[in-house]
Amino acid sequence: MLMTGNQYIESLRKLNTRVYMFGEKIENWVDHPMIRPSINCVAMTYDLAQDPAYADLMTAKSSLTGKTINRFAHLHQSPEDLVKKVKMQRLCGQKTASCFQRCVGMDAFNAVFSTTFEIDEKYGTQYHQRFVKFLEMVQENDLVVDGAMTDPKGDRSKAPHAQADPDLYLHIVERREDGIVVRGAKAHQTGSINSHWHIIMPTISMKEDDADYAVSFACPSDADGLFMIYGRQSCDTRKLEEGADVDLGNKQFGGQEALVVFDNVFIPNEYIFMAGEYDFAGVLVERFAGYHRQSYGGCKVGVGDVVIGAAAVAAEYNGADKASAVKDKIIEMTHLNETLYCCGIACSSEGQKTKAGNYQIDMLLANICKQNVTRFPYEIVRLAEDIAGGLMVTMPSEKDFKSDTVVGRNGETIGDMCNKFFAAREGVSTENRMRILRFLENICLGASAVGYRTESMHGAGSPQAQRIMIARQGNLQQKKELAKAIAGIKE
Ligand code: SF4
Ligand code: FE
Repeated sequence: MLMTGNQYIESLRKLNTRVYMFGEKIENWVDHPMIRPSINCVAMTYDLAQDPAYADLMTAKSSLTGKTINRFAHLHQSPEDLVKKVKMQRLCGQKTASCFQRCVGMDAFNAVFSTTFEIDEKYGTQYHQRFVKFLEMVQENDLVVDGAMTDPKGDRSKAPHAQADPDLYLHIVERREDGIVVRGAKAHQTGSINSHWHIIMPTISMKEDDADYAVSFACPSDADGLFMIYGRQSCDTRKLEEGADVDLGNKQFGGQEALVVFDNVFIPNEYIFMAGEYDFAGVLVERFAGYHRQSYGGCKVGVGDVVIGAAAVAAEYNGADKASAVKDKIIEMTHLNETLYCCGIACSSEGQKTKAGNYQIDMLLANICKQNVTRFPYEIVRLAEDIAGGLMVTMPSEKDFKSDTVVGRNGETIGDMCNKFFAAREGVSTENRMRILRFLENICLGASAVGYRTESMHGAGSPQAQRIMIARQGNLQQKKELAKAIAGIKE
């Protein structure tokens, strides 16, 4: 059954999720002003699925049960499904201008589905059926699942088992008849607090010594021994200011990352999808990363659409929109943004069927997509700041604009002064000018910059991770043969 956004929010209240922030336990984290925008963002993935206008993108027919499900819980059944996924993400980005978090689960579902099939094929294990059962439960209840991959990693020159502190990569500490006990953590986990469940995956390819670290499983957010420490964002405490509105830039939506700690958590057998098959750790990593690199060709493009729109509005309010230089900057931003979209669509259209039956993106093109994402949003932001002007970062607070403290010789208030000197072009209110500039501030260097800037760099893997994949997938040998053939070289 598909939930509404409100039903989703209410469902979170039933969980006993342990959340810490600023050194304290947060009891009512669902209504906490710093967390709530990220919950609203995920709620949008539910509300859009309820809207008949978006049904084709936001919902799909389950390959497991034949029922209508949210596409975020879907196993892609064709290249067309992969394309729709990207379009859905662009739509969600357009509606929230933030990271809506639910994609990590979707990408984990598809990666774990195909990988468990292949592990079972080689080792005769039962992981795939267990996973299918778990996913049916997720689809049936329309749940949000955090796809958790990144370990803290400690000393990057050392393998997981060789770390001074063995917990720097999540690992199995005890194997029992009925399950395993795990310890460790997953860092910067998108949407982890407002997920119902988590799917844990290894973070790098591994060798025999790391067998205890080659572990994948599902566990509920409020499992015994599991807790999360909230990751703060730039300008986040503005959300705690009384009556905060204009200064937030994006009052309703935001992203969320947290450190998820597993302090000896018991995982029953039915939720274990890998436990020691280290030769499949790298496969799972590559597939999840590949899907998430495709994802960025959708979500970041949707957010980019809003950034471009905001820059154009700011130019209009300043009376600069007719200048040819400004028009050209908007064209450049559009060119960059649509180039990312081309990559997202291309790697989807070239998708291939896996042994398990779901579809996987073209790996080379997905990595090209994400590599471009590590650059273009930065240029788009640079151009947006250029168009917006310095006021975006020097403007007095909303409280000043509303203040009736008298400061002028003729009885003018602080508010009068601000409104006088920061007036926009005729017919545009100063408040609207503030709003669009604060929005740009939020996305370029405020709380939402996590999702649009630095996440563009490091989310779904840092740039070097894509370059390794590009080197591996680029088929240089074939390119050399092509050159030799035409140049008439016979060796
Ligand atoms: Fe989805 Fe993009 Fe956020 Fe990843 S960064 S979870 S793809 S919105
Ligand atoms: Fe991300």
